[in-house]
Amino acid sequence: MLAARSRFASVAKRTFASQAEATTAPVDKKYKVVVVGAGPGGLSVSSTLSKMLGKDQVAVIDPSQYHYYQPLWTYVGGGLKDFRESVRPMESVVPEKADWIQQRVTQLDPDNNQVKLNDGKTIGYDYLVVAAGIQINWDQIKGLKESLGKDGVTSNYSPESVQKTYKFIKEFKGGNALFTFPNTPLKCPGAPTKIVFLAEEAFRLQGVRDKTNVTYNTSLGKIFGVDHYGKVLQQLADERNINVNFQTELIEIKPEDRKAIFRNNANKEIKSFDYDFLHVAPPQGAPTFIKESKLADAAGFVDVNKSTLRSNKYKNVFSLGDCSNLPTSKTAAAITGESGTLKKNLIAQMEGKDIKPAEYDGYTSCPLIVGRDQLILAEFSGYTGQPLETFPVDQRKISSAAQYLNMEVIPSLYWNGLLNGTWTGPSTFRNIMSPFRKD
Ligand SMILES: Cc1cc2nc3c(=O)[nH]c(=O)nc-3n(C[C@H](O)[C@H](O)[C@H](O)COP(=O)(O)OP(=O)(O)OC[C@H]3O[C@@H](n4cnc5c(N)ncnc54)[C@H](O)[C@@H]3O)c2cc1C
Repeated sequence: MLAARSRFASVAKRTFASQAEATTAPVDKKYKVVVVGAGPGGLSVSSTLSKMLGKDQVAVIDPSQYHYYQPLWTYVGGGLKDFRESVRPMESVVPEKADWIQQRVTQLDPDNNQVKLNDGKTIGYDYLVVAAGIQINWDQIKGLKESLGKDGVTSNYSPESVQKTYKFIKEFKGGNALFTFPNTPLKCPGAPTKIVFLAEEAFRLQGVRDKTNVTYNTSLGKIFGVDHYGKVLQQLADERNINVNFQTELIEIKPEDRKAIFRNNANKEIKSFDYDFLHVAPPQGAPTFIKESKLADAAGFVDVNKSTLRSNKYKNVFSLGDCSNLPTSKTAAAITGESGTLKKNLIAQMEGKDIKPAEYDGYTSCPLIVGRDQLILAEFSGYTGQPLETFPVDQRKISSAAQYLNMEVIPSLYWNGLLNGTWTGPSTFRNIMSPFRKD
């Protein structure tokens, strides 16, 4: 370990001498690697690097007291899992050998290899990994903040409101159940659809389906972006009498009248829908501190090379997960593949190895939960839109085994594999399975 550390130190000195010399402002503390964000992206990278580099070399900056396994929130909202299973204290998941700085980064200063914190301190780095997730912009929908969590209005997209979803579903006595999909990038683009199916099934089981209209207003032009799975999903929605309105964006909620106002983005028509239950997938976008930095692309996300995950502007900066501009679906599943690639490339650069960079293929997965015991295991490349399936079966078929895998096995892989840096996705398994696959 010591040998690795001193070899790293000399290489880092050589590689980044000019950048280090450019540093003018004094820093309060400096690390070899600074990771911004302790979600799955930040932890998967900081675990491996801190094990490799040892103590005092890696800092993880995140203000949150808790780490959330957000993929569980669809099950929480559907009444199939307890919210507490999705939460762990941050101190229990931050890698032992990394320093956790419990602050918010307010400014990224890549010209000087520094980040600024909200307590006024400045942290310097040789390498920066940005993994701060996507920002939820509740304010973009008039009336949403005030109505959330009350009188049937909910969202699986926040730790507070997700705990209201199933309560409202259980209390629902019939009427109009309304669901939305925003006109922005979002994490887990399947999540807004999954809760439609789970709620619709719950209404059937509760005996209120025949007096309920289930309406899904989505800003998209189709129910799911990847046709391979989308066609099956649309057929299911038709069979279950779910009204799907496309290019229909939520713009306002009037809780006093229980009305939700939508704009049709094709013909600009404004239409009001009555609701008794309303699930909102909120507008999302790049975190403000990234948008305001030199690392951002025009949309505000960290501008990285889509194969190597290195910044297109600063060679000692990398990014992964929801805050990056990688053109694939923003999911924890995508982070498995992204983290493996990022770590290989960052470590090779640190060690001064002139090797062919590892390349991320856009792998992502969206486990489409369509019932309590029903799941379509969508796995594809967000770069090509083509399936990248692990198992030698037709994964478009509804499967209870896939539901068990997603609900009981994947969470354990997340907590014990992804967060400690050892699970980098199913590609090896997929390769082993490939001779058995009938394409
Ligand atoms: C309802 C729902 C269902 C989902 N379902 C699935 C699913 O089935 N499968 C799947 O793979 N994915 C799913 N996801 C998506 C998945 O949870 C995210 O894609 C994943 O968590 C992204 O990881 P990340 O590390 O990029 O960001 P995050 O997990 O959002 O973590 C970002 C971290 O950065 C920190 N941070 C933010 N700003 C700053 C700052 N200024 N300074 C320092 N730290 C900061 C935050 O506190 C946070 O801890 C779902 C998400 C939701 C909400």
